[in-house]
Amino acid sequence: MKVTVVGAGMGGLTVAALLSRTGQHDVTVLEQAAGFHEAGYGIGLYPLGAMVYNAIGRGHQLRDKAVVLKTYEVHGPDGKLLQSIDLSGLLAAYGPLLGVTRTDMISILHSAVPDGVIQFGCRAQSVKMAGDQVSMTLENGRTLESDIVVAADGMHSAIRRSLFGEVEPHLTGFDAWMWWAPLRLTRPDTVSEFWGPSAFVGLYPMREFINVAVAVPKELSPNPKGSSEEILHALRHSVAKHAPKVAEMPDLWEIAAGKPFLWPMFDVRAPALTALNDRVALLGDAGVGFLPTAGVGASNALRSGAALAYELSLSDKDSAQAAVRRWSKRVEKIVHGNQNDSRQLAKLMMVKHASASALINLLMKYMPVTATTNSIIKSMEEPF
Ligand SMILES: Cc1cc2nc3c(=O)[nH]c(=O)nc-3n(C[C@H](O)[C@H](O)[C@H](O)COP(=O)(O)OP(=O)(O)OC[C@H]3O[C@@H](n4cnc5c(N)ncnc54)[C@H](O)[C@@H]3O)c2cc1C
Repeated sequence: MKVTVVGAGMGGLTVAALLSRTGQHDVTVLEQAAGFHEAGYGIGLYPLGAMVYNAIGRGHQLRDKAVVLKTYEVHGPDGKLLQSIDLSGLLAAYGPLLGVTRTDMISILHSAVPDGVIQFGCRAQSVKMAGDQVSMTLENGRTLESDIVVAADGMHSAIRRSLFGEVEPHLTGFDAWMWWAPLRLTRPDTVSEFWGPSAFVGLYPMREFINVAVAVPKELSPNPKGSSEEILHALRHSVAKHAPKVAEMPDLWEIAAGKPFLWPMFDVRAPALTALNDRVALLGDAGVGFLPTAGVGASNALRSGAALAYELSLSDKDSAQAAVRRWSKRVEKIVHGNQNDSRQLAKLMMVKHASASALINLLMKYMPVTATTNSIIKSMEEPF
């Protein structure tokens, strides 16, 4: 059976790595980029995503590149600690929460995909049925027939657009900027966040650097065409206005590597996870996109990818549609629940007005932030 995966990201590479191990199907991955390049951000990885690395025999490589995150702290705009969550309970129950760069995660997944499976520089445009097969048109005019298409082409999925048209995005009104700051900025095992009005600052430890994320309302967001210095200067100005103590944090505005990276804070949800008579599966952000607020999008793409590879490994040409249908049933409720949690958390983390921020900060003194991530915790009890 011919399986074409669109997108060599977290989800697509997981399917390719696991399916090509069984050798049953003819698997091709189409990736629009010319190759893998350095991504300017890190990932908080839950055990439910990390376990995929064990399944592909790369668990030790992942752990070598990651740090174990032991504490999660939320602070107010004055820098005062509102709550500190000891993550050792999570660790004991399910496994470690890791901090690892996206670049390292992708490169390890890539190492588990046999040579020749990924075709770089191939941008998929649309899909339609042609007899019993899915016919895909590429940007270069080429067409390709497959029994199953896995659309793993991310938040801006062209395949989703060709199937469902433009899907209304879920907007937060904020832009997030990320960069690498020196390790001395914070403790190496502690995620620290500062929730202020019109200013969110997050510090996420990785092996070599601290991944800084600063989110501000779109109208205050710097011009992405500016230099790194100009972007940081504008962000510092915004944060200083709303959370002056946080803006004064030593080393916060020092770039240790790369340059600031912009991520508009929105997500999407496709009307369905399957299409064209269950011959197309929308995997990861292409089907259910994630805000980075709960740090769970990558884990979902990895875990859903593993579940899809498992179902497809049980099927042939005649039973593949049933496999895709089963997969969709298994994952849909879980990924929707996790996406809802991420959206809920975004409402608490990114608020514009001082009065709303003060209320949330008061709430944070008494309500554990994990109360807003119930579905994520529960999903660790429910293997796909
Ligand atoms: C700044 C930031 C911070 C984040 N932090 C976290 C975090 O801490 N924890 C977490 O779990 N998640 C986090 N996420 C979310 C996580 O990165 C995504 O949910 C995850 O990468 C989704 O995986 P995916 O395979 O669906 O898509 P992606 O990993 O985005 O991969 C999509 C791939 O498809 C390719 N592609 C796109 N269009 C086409 C096309 N038409 N044809 C061919 N190829 C195409 C792209 O080049 C890319 O390689 C963060 C995201 C961002 C942006």
